[in-house]
Parts: sequence; structure tokens; C-alpha cells
Amino acid sequence: MKKIAILGSTGSIGTQTLEVVRENPDIQVAALAAGKNIGLLEKQIREFRPRIAAVWEEADAKELRERLRDMQVKIYSGMDGLIEVAVCQEAQMLVTAIVGMIGIRPTIEGIRRGKDIALANKETLVTAGHLIMPLIQEHKVQLLPVDSEHSAIFQCLNGEKENQIDKILLTASGGPFRGKTYKELENVRVEDALRHPNWAMGKKITIDSATMVNKGLEVMEAKWLFGVSLEQIQVVIQPQSVIHSMVQFKDGAVMAQLGTPDMKLPIQYALFYPERRNLPGERLDFAKMGRITFEDPDLDTFVGLKYAFEAAKTGGSMPTVLNAANERAVQMFLEGRIRFTDIYQVIRYCMDHHRVIENPDVGEILDTESAVYEMIESRW
Ligand code: NDP
Repeated sequence: MKKIAILGSTGSIGTQTLEVVRENPDIQVAALAAGKNIGLLEKQIREFRPRIAAVWEEADAKELRERLRDMQVKIYSGMDGLIEVAVCQEAQMLVTAIVGMIGIRPTIEGIRRGKDIALANKETLVTAGHLIMPLIQEHKVQLLPVDSEHSAIFQCLNGEKENQIDKILLTASGGPFRGKTYKELENVRVEDALRHPNWAMGKKITIDSATMVNKGLEVMEAKWLFGVSLEQIQVVIQPQSVIHSMVQFKDGAVMAQLGTPDMKLPIQYALFYPERRNLPGERLDFAKMGRITFEDPDLDTFVGLKYAFEAAKTGGSMPTVLNAANERAVQMFLEGRIRFTDIYQVIRYCMDHHRVIENPDVGEILDTESAVYEMIESRW
């Protein structure tokens, strides 16, 4: 029986992970962590019976303890709670389905306790990849990508040697605003930005897909996961989201992974790797599909992608600046406080006003995050 712990069980990836668990009787949930949605977490605890659970606020933890008095579950709160879940003794695998840089510390603690990591929380690798990758080696655990593009690349590399990669072709749908000019993006509404053409995801990543900052974060994630240089990563727009990514090898051969846009596939692949299991759902019908098209990303409109390449090239604490500035700017956009293109302005401003720290440790990464938030607070 495989046992897992999930950070962010009430979110889009978290709930889909639990759907996979529901379909597979040989996997159990040992621990669950969520943020504020204690109603859903209570239901999940009653159904999956973890021994440990965590929520962010102590007041919510108290309320949940009250509601679950009839259950054998220990409920924690705050960062200590996230870490309790991450290091939960019974679990062999930690699914990081939490959103944002808050995932860094529990992920590190999970690795230190020998947990395999099914990684959805890309912010952890973007900001702390230089710390996470050596830790993965040191503790001899597996790092299994859940992000669909990275899962696709991982699947293409099965049985291949990483030093034979020529380049990674990271595909992108282009989001809801593909084809628009920068000027046209200025006044798009929150509800338009939340309407992704192919994927149903959490709000933050949906906005990141609309700005294409998500693709920039994925470039950095791919660099760490697959040990390639930035020059070896090419972003290719593939609007139908049928090809989830490709790898070109030294001999010119290109391998691609295709499928319907269903996150349960990469989640299930990570949970049971290297085994492939049945997954109910739609299958691709190539004749019906007719064609798959490709184009270059428009970096004059989606400048966030350009900034992400720049931040990745600078390295050190700069990816943290981009990530933190983006996290806060997306939140401000969702609250109606700034315009869509201001997300790019906020990122640019923070990158321009940051003095880079080479090789930051966790403390310095988190200090950089706070400094970015203060910078934004004082300007917007
Ligand atoms: P959601 O917003 O849907 O879910 C986020 C989860 O994190 C929720 O369970 C939320 O809890 C929890 N959370 C937020 N803040 C805290 C906190 N302070 N303490 C504890 N838990 C917290 O996000 P997604 O599922 O869309 O994304 C999760 C991660 O996966 C992101 O890093 C994203 O980039 C990545 N990803 C997502 C994909 C997708 O298809 N959704 C695809 C590829 C990657 P609550 O709701 O209870 O507050």
C-alpha cells in the first residue's frame, strides 16, 4: 500500500489527486494540508481518513478540531502544520499541490525525511532549484513532475540519457489572449483572463497562463528538472494543447507526448511511476482533430515571458524577484486594484530595483520575497 501526503488538497491539483486516489485502492492518504477551505478539508478528512491534517490559521484549526471530534486526526496550523504534513512518517510520497513560494520549506523538509516528491508547486523549483536539486541527489529521492509539460518531457526521456538532449520544445497554448497586441491587453477584464481555452486550473496559474508568465516559470522549472541550459529550451505555441511538450535529441529525432488536456494523467503518472494505469476519460481522435498548428510566442505582447528568460539568465535571487512580484501582482489584478498589463510593470519595476544575491539560501530567498512585497506596497 502506497501512502501519500498532499499539500494543497483543496485546490485544483489537490482535488484531482484525490480523484486518482479514489480510483486506486492500493494508495492511501496519510496527511492533508489546505489553506482556508475547511469545509472541503473536513469532507476530505472524513472520506480519506488521514492521521494528520493542517490548515493555515490557528482559528480554522480550532474550528476543524471541534468539527472532527469524532475522528482520529491531529490538526495543526501555520508553517509548522505544513511541515508536519510534509514529514508525516507514514507517507512515502509528498504531493506539492500548494500554490506559491510557501511550498519551499515543507518541500525541503519532506526531501530531508526521504519522501519522493510529486511536484506541482513550480514556484519551489523556480526560486530554490539550486537548493532542491542537490538535496534530491543527497537524499536519493525521486522528483516526479506533475506539471503537464514537464511530465511530457519526463515521459519522452524515459530510457534516454539526459546528456543526449539537443533541446526541449516546451509547448504553450498561448492562453485566452493569443493574437492580441500589448495595447489590446491593457483593459482586459478579470473574467476574460480567467477563461483559459483548454485547461481548468486554479486562479493564480490561470492568470499566469494568460500573461504567459506561467511559461516563463515553466522554462525555469524545466532547466532545473532536466539539467539543460536556457539556450536549450524553446517555447512553441501549440494552441490546441494536444502536444504537451517535446524533446529533440542530438540525432535530430523528436519525441513528443500527446493526450487530451486532463491533469489526472500527469498526476497518476507521478503517483505510480514507472507504471501506467488505466485512466478513464476521452481519448484523442486525430481524424476528428484535423490539424495541430504551431507558432512562435509573441514576446512584444507577452513581455512577462521575456522577463522570465532574463531573470533565469541572471539567476541567483532574480527568479525569486520575478516570482514574488508576479504572485503579488496577480493577486492585485484579481482584486481589481491594477490592470492586466500592470502585472508586467510590477515585475519590471521589482527586477530593475533589486540587487542580486548569488546562490541565496532559504532565508535569503524568503527575505527577497518580503523585500519585493515591501517594494510593491510602497509603490502601488
Ligand atoms: P489552487 O489555487 O487551485 O489550489 C491551491 C491550494 O493551495 C489550495 O488547496 C489552497 O488551500 C492551498 N493553499 C494556499 N495557501 C495556503 C496556505 N497558506 N497554507 C496551506 N495551503 C494553502 O492552485 P492549483 O491547484 O491550480 O495549483 C497548485 C500548484 O500547482 C501551483 O504551483 C500551480 O502553478 C501548479 N500547477 C497547477 C496546474 C493546474 O492544472 N491547476 C498545472 C500545473 C501546475 P485553500 O483553497 O483551502 O485555501
